[in-house]
Amino acid sequence: MYTKSKTLFEKARQVIPGGVNSPVRAFRSVGGTPVFMQHAKGAYMYDVDGNRYIDYINSWGPMILGHAYEPVVKAIQEYATYSTSFGAPTELEIAMAELIVSMVPNIDMVRMVNSGTEACMSALRLARGFTGRNKVIKFEGNYHGHADSFLVSAGSGVATLGIQSVPGVTATVAEDTLSVPYNNLPAVEQLVAEYPEQIAAIIVEPVAGNMGCILPQPGFLEGLRTLCDTHGIVFIMDEVMTGFRLAKGGAQELLGVKADIVTFGKIIGGGMPVGAFAGRREIMEHIAPSGKIYQAGTLSGNPIAMIAGYTLLKTLQERPAIYTQLEEKTSQLVAGLRETFGAAGVVYQINHIGSMMSVHFAEYPIVDFTAASGANNELFRRFFHAMLERGVYLPPSAFESWFISHALGQEDIEFTINAAKASMQAIK
Ligand code: PMP
Repeated sequence: MYTKSKTLFEKARQVIPGGVNSPVRAFRSVGGTPVFMQHAKGAYMYDVDGNRYIDYINSWGPMILGHAYEPVVKAIQEYATYSTSFGAPTELEIAMAELIVSMVPNIDMVRMVNSGTEACMSALRLARGFTGRNKVIKFEGNYHGHADSFLVSAGSGVATLGIQSVPGVTATVAEDTLSVPYNNLPAVEQLVAEYPEQIAAIIVEPVAGNMGCILPQPGFLEGLRTLCDTHGIVFIMDEVMTGFRLAKGGAQELLGVKADIVTFGKIIGGGMPVGAFAGRREIMEHIAPSGKIYQAGTLSGNPIAMIAGYTLLKTLQERPAIYTQLEEKTSQLVAGLRETFGAAGVVYQINHIGSMMSVHFAEYPIVDFTAASGANNELFRRFFHAMLERGVYLPPSAFESWFISHALGQEDIEFTINAAKASMQAIK
């Protein structure tokens, strides 16, 4: 069933560390051979052995309208003929920045980069340069990319692989990163009191998606906002997952909390390697060349990436019903899974908001990293493989969010729920 994938994985391991270019893809926490994909369309991905999967990763977010979304594909094809990179400014970059500013609240200016990692890394440098302070507060199980400052108590692959501290990140750098449990406002208040005038930024995933999906509890984000205002701290919302996904204006719009700097990735490039950070003019003007805080990129604002992202974002802006429909699809799937797990007699928690969701097999609410880590990940592993065999591709780790795409049809949701029923019977 996975013959070609197995052969390719063996070959890949000879020339690519761990056989993959990003750790979570390696199926380390669920075991088995990663499936090698060949092509995808709409809600489906097809592997090299000809198996079809309903996709609940959607490239970890960007494929919000499904794979190979026709207008994006066409735009890329057209623009590729003009040149794949100029290394000089283009009008398209203005259109992209204007579009983002028009969709997202509280931002005047945007700088494009090439990944979510770069966006968060640059946002932190900006916050440090702007405040003249060094320390940053982040949350356990939140992931902000693989820059040194964020690889402290990080989520996603770092959590999946159980890496407590990352070799290569110097103690001096790690010392400036203070980590506290998600949803724990008193712990943040205590840190702020402990390090007066030293905290440059608080960075948070407004909805956490890198330890499964975990919602901010009422008052948590608002409390962070107030703390930042009181103590002159820059509030960075990492909207790499939530941006343009939870609402056209991201979590800031949906949850009504203001950030000072917002970071984006994934969706913003329509599947091309793109990220961005954005904020109010008085902060953003400190970035070079208008200010001294240096940040640059040969391929930043790349025309193919810009047209892919622009086309996707424009569609989201013009068709707001997409968000209501995404929410309906997600709720329907959640209801079906609740019924399935209930009938199977397993303890479970499903967190969901908009088109992000996740399943943890636990009897207590999943509100932070400790809770997520205590869930029955062995059962998740078996569930993952049972679903994969039945043609449903879930994130290969319980420390990841599921992403619902608009291409998901009624019959796909039913197919998934039936697959879950059969999977629970098979693994019990
Ligand atoms: N921030 C968040 C919230 C993310 O989920 C991710 C990636 N999963 C990143 C930053 C890093 O983005 P990239 O992988 O594009 O570097």
